[in-house]
Amino acid sequence: MLKNFETMLNEYARLCVKVGINLQQGQPLVISAPIEGVDFVRLVAKNAYELGASEVHVNWNDEVLTKLKYENAPMEVFENFPKWFADGQVDFAKKNAGFLSISAQDPELLKSIDPKKIATYNKSASLALKEFRNYTMNDINAWCVVSIPTKSWAKRVFPDVSEDEAVEKLWAAIFNATRMDLKDPIKAWENHIETLIKKSDFLNKNDFKSLHYTSSNGTDLVVELPNDHIWVSGGSTNAKDTYFVANMPTEEVFTMPLKTGVNGHVYSTKPLNYGGKLIDDFKLTFKDGKVVDFDAKVGKEVLTDLLSIDDGAKYLGEVALVPFASPISESNIVFMNTLFDENASCHFAFGKAYPTNIKGGEKMSDEELEANGVNNSLTHVDFMIGSPDMSIVGTRKDGEKIQIFKNGNWAF
Ligand code: ZN
Ligand code: ZN
Repeated sequence: MLKNFETMLNEYARLCVKVGINLQQGQPLVISAPIEGVDFVRLVAKNAYELGASEVHVNWNDEVLTKLKYENAPMEVFENFPKWFADGQVDFAKKNAGFLSISAQDPELLKSIDPKKIATYNKSASLALKEFRNYTMNDINAWCVVSIPTKSWAKRVFPDVSEDEAVEKLWAAIFNATRMDLKDPIKAWENHIETLIKKSDFLNKNDFKSLHYTSSNGTDLVVELPNDHIWVSGGSTNAKDTYFVANMPTEEVFTMPLKTGVNGHVYSTKPLNYGGKLIDDFKLTFKDGKVVDFDAKVGKEVLTDLLSIDDGAKYLGEVALVPFASPISESNIVFMNTLFDENASCHFAFGKAYPTNIKGGEKMSDEELEANGVNNSLTHVDFMIGSPDMSIVGTRKDGEKIQIFKNGNWAF
């Protein structure tokens, strides 16, 4: 029998704090959420207090206000990200807070806005939040990204039905992607994570030197991996030894590329929602790690701005494997939200690599990371390149070749 919506919503809120953050007694929880999600946020807070949270703090956002600000505020406002906000996040991080982000936005919200304003804001935010980002990107604190539908977003995903119906359909899709529609979601997550860990263990054991991607869409790319790289999947352990799951859903097994070791061509296979603008149907050419040529049928200007944030934005910082046969991919829904789309497709990320993807990386200085071939940047943006006929062949250090992906799916 199908569980009723209220029960499911409460179980989902529970899953976020219990499995996502794995909230511990006495820990603060910081939530960022759209105001439309107030009912869900209240449920999350209730569950967090039940699990022993010392305090729940919410950073609210609202699309209408965001758009009004972009339409009316002068450029200086976008050049100066509020320091008090960045400081507040760092204060909470120092108190060992867990950070839950509810990612839900109209992918076309800022379609009519001057891309320079958006690029300026993205850059000043990245700079201001640099210290805070170290706490999450190095897994010092537990953090988790989840989603709930908003009306505007749901209508973009399901344009042919009424707003209410679109929201209902998006909830169903989110519940399916997060295994909430199964009898015991918490148990289902434990099993799922076990499967992912088997894949990352295999990849780590083989210690590949490079991966060769090919697909009938024209993708032909060789990605070298640095010495001592680590494949990570499912969850991570924070500085307090708590196991948390940073993305729900998560289907990926990922590591970092050697910064200067990417060569060839790659074609995108899903639209990329970047800060309220869409980039779609794009092609990148890499030489010695750097994007040396690119084109996009949609949003070329946005892609140009993204690649111009800094030098590191033109290099890759993540190599993620996701089978074509995953619940999200099989749903055939393009969510236009990276949390879902990246978990339906093999992907890379422009920009900063996770230091946790190399042995001892969390303790390395920026210079040491650079010397080990780890890319650094103010940005980190995933983009999807997986296809139904994708082949990935790994070459080990002893020269042996092993098929990793065949016809879009795990070959082992
Ligand atoms: Zn990823
Ligand atoms: Zn990523």
